[in-house]
Amino acid sequence: MLCKIKCPECSTDGTISLLETTYEGPYKCWKCRQLFAINLKNGAMQSCKPLSQEEVEKLQEIDALKKKFRKD
Ligand SMILES: [Zn+2]
Repeated sequence: MLCKIKCPECSTDGTISLLETTYEGPYKCWKCRQLFAINLKNGAMQSCKPLSQEEVEKLQEIDALKKKFRKD
């Protein structure tokens, strides 16, 4: 399903494709490129907070590790 996410930073509507109606993870605004940690329950946003550069790097590291493991 597609969930609508309104960017708290620039108020732009974006969408996120989900397998379930519950989601906890990063969301990136396509317009202002700000990253957020969002929490969705039943397709409704419960919380949304901007991610710091440090947190973004940490998530990217995890992502890179996942890709590395997938290749092996
Ligand atoms: Zn935005």
